[in-house]
Amino acid sequence: MEDIFDKIIHGEIPSYKVYDDEDVFAFLDISQATPGHTLVVPKADVKDIFAYDDELAKKILTKLPIIARAVKASNPKIIGINILSNNGVAAGQSVPHSHWHIIPRYENDGLDLPGAVDHSNQYDEKRYKAIAKSISEQF
Ligand code: 5GP
Repeated sequence: MEDIFDKIIHGEIPSYKVYDDEDVFAFLDISQATPGHTLVVPKADVKDIFAYDDELAKKILTKLPIIARAVKASNPKIIGINILSNNGVAAGQSVPHSHWHIIPRYENDGLDLPGAVDHSNQYDEKRYKAIAKSISEQF
């Protein structure tokens, strides 16, 4: 079944397109967390990052710096960019078609993104080691 991003890619729903090629479609996020907030979407019907194979990852991820540079170059007031992808409902994914947010940052833009929380006081060497081991064993 077509999701909303398929409909945007196929032009069935209008969007403010900024980039389009064989593999990727990029357009302004309707929410505009900051001006220039752009979504980069694989044309392949892939739900989230867990479903990427190497080939798709190469195709999509190589486009992120290219599109990020274009967004940055579009406005001299942009002094940084956050790139993020929510994967899974628990992570805030609201559209079940993989996408990458490119969010320009401006001086005093007031945007409060998650990620700046420091829980290091709850960790000791044993706990860090156990977590790193359980991840590194999955490859
Ligand atoms: P998520 O929450 O899944 O990481 O991001 C989905 C994003 O898609 C949201 O930031 C939301 O604003 C955007 N979005 C949802 N529907 C539409 C739409 O119809 N058009 C555009 N341009 N963006 C949309």
